[in-house]
Amino acid sequence: MYDVLSKHAADFIHDGEILDTLDYAAANKSNRPLIESLIDRAREGKGLSHREAAVLLDCDQDDLNEQIYALASEIKHKLYGNRIVMFAPLYLSNYCVNGCVYCPYHYKNKTIARKKLTQEEIAREVIALQDMGHKRLALEAGEDPVNNPIDYILESINTIYGIKHKNGAIRRVNVNIAATTVENYRRLAEAGIGTYILFQETYNQANYEALHPTGPKHDYAYHTEAMDRAMDGGIDDVGIGVLFGLNLYRYDFVGLLMHAEHLEAAKGVGPHTISVPRICPADDIDPANFSNAISDDIFAKIVAVIRIAVPYTGMIVSTRESQKSRERVLKLGVSQISGGSSTSVGGYVEREREEDNSAQFEVSDTRTLDEILGWLLELGYIPSFCTACYREGRTGDRFMALVKSGQIANCCQPNSLMTLKEYLEDYAAPETKAKGEQVIADEMRHVPNEKVRRIAEERLVKIAAGERDFRF
Ligand code: SF4
Ligand code: SF4
Repeated sequence: MYDVLSKHAADFIHDGEILDTLDYAAANKSNRPLIESLIDRAREGKGLSHREAAVLLDCDQDDLNEQIYALASEIKHKLYGNRIVMFAPLYLSNYCVNGCVYCPYHYKNKTIARKKLTQEEIAREVIALQDMGHKRLALEAGEDPVNNPIDYILESINTIYGIKHKNGAIRRVNVNIAATTVENYRRLAEAGIGTYILFQETYNQANYEALHPTGPKHDYAYHTEAMDRAMDGGIDDVGIGVLFGLNLYRYDFVGLLMHAEHLEAAKGVGPHTISVPRICPADDIDPANFSNAISDDIFAKIVAVIRIAVPYTGMIVSTRESQKSRERVLKLGVSQISGGSSTSVGGYVEREREEDNSAQFEVSDTRTLDEILGWLLELGYIPSFCTACYREGRTGDRFMALVKSGQIANCCQPNSLMTLKEYLEDYAAPETKAKGEQVIADEMRHVPNEKVRRIAEERLVKIAAGERDFRF
């Protein structure tokens, strides 16, 4: 039976409830009064249930779909302003014992180069990332208890936080590793990680088991209940996501929202972020073999309706998406993007070596971080390297309370400007610097709170004079 509070995956991601929801959405896809009432209610910014969101996703009325897109943009702008948080992935090891059929790291793939970084190599990667201007990383590693045990991950986090190169520092390490025990999550929390990220891939159990035929990841319940264990282990911020294209997108869309509802109901706080990757080419992987791959239009609709349904959850797209696709979804709800990414193990130091095919997927947006920043500025966004909430202990329910009350915006906008200023001083190309300085000057005029503006102005002067680390 469907039970949002249950600790069992089969109850909170209840197959029957998802199928009923899909029937309900299909039956109401042209129901104009219902859709109009949902749009009106969603405008209050309090979100929608998975059933209601499924109706908007299925809506087949062109004019109402335009209203859905407009509302997504409105909510995005109201809650997130024009800032976009930047991050980069850091691949530690591509050894993996699992058999995921959509990922080139699956253990049977003999054509991929297997690598695991030493602590010295991690230090070099981190310096290369700091030299680009990154402050926030997402650690990635395959599941392999022999090659990538939890002690290796913890040692790597410690190494990363310890590197201070010129004015650089990694201020938030998010971690994307396999589902693990409460005890291991407790150790990750104690190591000071930011968000624990784990994608469900698909919420359809039968499909999930077929796509993960071997290895510990085959266990659907253990994987689906991982976020509950992570929170029991003291990790406040968790990031969920599915790999769109593995299964029927409507099913996974509903499952994703039910997962968010479960965490909110059972743990008191929903997911910190939702990621929306789509299946893409890689060594040994051809997206044409996945018949559920989704179009750009459906992808945009998914992003828009997630924004409406869970307004307070950050949304992430990676460099899997092209520049064009990213530009479209930034308007509709995405609040974090990666930039200048390498998806190879050791790829920041040795980018040029083509024969080292250790990448997890092909990067579609191959621009440098500086090019991406220039582009964002041109589009009217403020690229932000802010990590202040994590550094000030504003995580989990404390963070959500501030976001829901709207108070967080007082911090986000000036902090994004301060961290952009740091970037411009330390790493920007002259053209990006000129654009960025102009944006900062314009935006400072619009900081609504007089006291905040004065503090920000003082800090801008100090940053220009070389001072760093104001706990942004
Ligand atoms: Fe391993 Fe993760 Fe790739 Fe699966 S998706 S093969 S668990 S690295
Ligand atoms: Fe993110 Fe908090 Fe910084 Fe705002 S103040 S940009 S929510 S870290």
